[in-house]
Amino acid sequence: MKYRENRRTGDKISEIGMGTAYIVEAERSEAVKTVRHAYESGINYYDLARIGDEMAREHYLALEKNASDCVSCGHCNSRCPFSVDQMNLMQEIKEFFSNGAA
Ligand code: SF4
Repeated sequence: MKYRENRRTGDKISEIGMGTAYIVEAERSEAVKTVRHAYESGINYYDLARIGDEMAREHYLALEKNASDCVSCGHCNSRCPFSVDQMNLMQEIKEFFSNGAA
């Protein structure tokens, strides 16, 4: 597993993360196996935001900058090789956390 350093905290974060939005629908034993396999593979980044984890909210709100700081300049949209609409994602994230949905 390759890791990258979080320049702000010095943490080593795995280049591959695990999204968890759909794991809540899995059988508990399968969910545990899946997370364990990810952990044993070296993954140390888990996206918990969509399952309403309060820790994710706390981490988001503790960030020096977050989606609310996006000024919709469009720079990232024009550079993304996957055509991800980052401006809209930032707006969605901002609304998600500001609505108390997490
Ligand atoms: S549109 Fe992209 S580059 Fe511009 S402020 Fe928002 S996140 Fe940053």
